Amino acid sequence: MNIALLGPTGAGKGTLISALAEKNKLHPITLGDVLRQKANYGTALGLLTREYVQNGELVPDEFVDAMVEEIFRHLPPGTNTILDGFPRTVTQARFLDDLLLDLGQKLDAVVYLHVPEAVIFQRVAQRQPPRQDDEPHILRHRLHVFRRMVAPVLKHYYDTGRLVLLHADAPAHQLEMQLKDLVQGLSVSRHPEFSEADLAFLDQLLKSKPAALVQPDPALNLVLLGGPGSGKGTQAEHLCKGFKLPHISTGDLFRDNIKRQTDLGRLAKSYMDRGELVPDDVTERMVATRLSQPDASHGFVLDGFPRTVSQAEALDEILHGINRKTTGVIHLQVSDEEIVRRLSGRRICRQCQAPFHLLFKKPRREGLCNHCGGPLYQRDDDKEETILVRLKNYHRQTKPLIAYYRDAGVLTEVRGEGDMGAIRAAMLAAAKLFAEEPEAATQV
Ligand SMILES: [Zn+2]
Repeated sequence: MNIALLGPTGAGKGTLISALAEKNKLHPITLGDVLRQKANYGTALGLLTREYVQNGELVPDEFVDAMVEEIFRHLPPGTNTILDGFPRTVTQARFLDDLLLDLGQKLDAVVYLHVPEAVIFQRVAQRQPPRQDDEPHILRHRLHVFRRMVAPVLKHYYDTGRLVLLHADAPAHQLEMQLKDLVQGLSVSRHPEFSEADLAFLDQLLKSKPAALVQPDPALNLVLLGGPGSGKGTQAEHLCKGFKLPHISTGDLFRDNIKRQTDLGRLAKSYMDRGELVPDDVTERMVATRLSQPDASHGFVLDGFPRTVSQAEALDEILHGINRKTTGVIHLQVSDEEIVRRLSGRRICRQCQAPFHLLFKKPRREGLCNHCGGPLYQRDDDKEETILVRLKNYHRQTKPLIAYYRDAGVLTEVRGEGDMGAIRAAMLAAAKLFAEEPEAATQV
């Protein structure tokens, strides 16, 4: 049996999971622990994760997926599990369904710990020791972001008949009893019914969309999508130069906030230091702060955000808040074969870290650095099998995002292969069309 526990901060997930693990022999899989342990394992995946964290970058969802997969594939057969902190998106929910199916198992139920917000505020205020992000205004925003993220996931499980709502403001021992009953009920495949109040809560959770803009927005607000090795960074620079727009990449944003020791930077770093994922609401607030700066008032090129539909909705909300909207989304398309060709040729000097490429920037002497004569090596990140895993996961994650923007009528696609000059020209033309006739731009 496999169940997942979902709930906002302060819902008491941690306590319940330990109780369940102990009394019902459910093996706990807690995402935070997974990331912390993996980083120490010395596996390629663990090393890469640590590298992301140390460079002040977000650990991509596809890595998290790969780690969860590794754990499930190494569990002794017949292990009953309880998941905490995963899945966070519908894409991850589908991934988990596919993975378990492949292992001849299934996710039996998803238990949502429903707690009134007043109770959460009370609990968090009493938390000892208090955390830096426990302040009421931050908490309010965090809960808002959580609801937006969790809503589609709950819908996915509701639609597939696996959602269980548990009122988690009940006393702990009562809650444990209910969960125990539930686990036993599940083993004979009996799902509890929803009360009217539960259905009303779900209904309310699932509908909250921003209203239409008050005034038209003349700025050129561009989002650039592209997989690893697509050349997205280079193309973003061309666009920024061509249209005099700031290049806003999440990697830079993180590094900058951490370097300047802003509140958000320190907050993000506190997660990274604990080896945890930086929560979406922190990233979203960094993006929001950056987008409202004067140099972005005529537009921007956003790179590395959004990565998920939930983040795309967040971006809509952020822009709506400053009476703006996404003008256009350019998807830089490169075939998997080409990406493997580009990435697997990379070599780095072991002594001075100078980058080379077997196709595009050959070293003068095979296997040796032009500058210092040091030996060249291939990073784990650039090995074909790692690239293929990343690509598979990237596609799975990006498909819904592309569909989201296509449905919104703001998507255009540019082929990122072949002559560099031609790619650059196609990018500039796509952006120009968005600047002049946004309607026509998406018809291409
Ligand atoms: Zn060198």
